[in-house]
Amino acid sequence: MSLQDITDRITKAESAAGRAEGSVQLIAVSKVQPNDRVEAVLEQGHRCFGENRVQEAAGKWPTFRERFPDVALHLIGPLQTNKARQAIELCDAIHSVDRPKLAKSLARLAQEMGTCPELFIQINTGEEDQKAGVFPADADTFIAECRGLDLPVRGLMCIPPVDEEPALHFALLARIAERNGLDGLSMGMSGDFESAITLGATHVRVGSAIFGARVRPQE
Ligand SMILES: *Cc1c(COP(=O)(O)O)cnc(C)c1O
Repeated sequence: MSLQDITDRITKAESAAGRAEGSVQLIAVSKVQPNDRVEAVLEQGHRCFGENRVQEAAGKWPTFRERFPDVALHLIGPLQTNKARQAIELCDAIHSVDRPKLAKSLARLAQEMGTCPELFIQINTGEEDQKAGVFPADADTFIAECRGLDLPVRGLMCIPPVDEEPALHFALLARIAERNGLDGLSMGMSGDFESAITLGATHVRVGSAIFGARVRPQE
């Protein structure tokens, strides 16, 4: 696969779903990829990237940004409150707001720093113990709490369980978003982004299908 293949497939999926061309944002997930692969995608003109660790993002993106200042960086992995300030400084969007303590910390920092990335609230649609995100039953309350803190809530994010049909989780996320008046949906990865687009994804997070298999495992 290449960047062009993926963007072609996104365009086809948008059109098949009766959605406007360009309505889906491709986040190229560059975590643990060698710099030359990331650079190749930058050279092809792509400017929206995802990382799942603040530390790793801080290690590589300031340098890339010297050459490609219009890069947008999305944090898609768990965020510890002690890294929240750094995340705000580095990132244009955070997809992993998943608990009141983090929401309050982001609100306080946003006030102090006079800026805040776009935020997505992560929903643990599969109610998995090992996964971050608020359970579907707690979603409405937490979304209201974030809005009460004046946070710029762009939408919702989910990572379906590996062994289940992702479409069921995408549909659930879309329902929760709709009843809360949100239209941003961060869902769909290399194996299932077309299905996510059919179900309303506005942001797809695609890593290995663009860059190739990750060279070393994440954890
Ligand atoms: C790694 C990662 C992705 C991309 O996964 P691929 O299967 O390589 O496309 C998407 N979302 C999150 C949250 C990730 O951590």
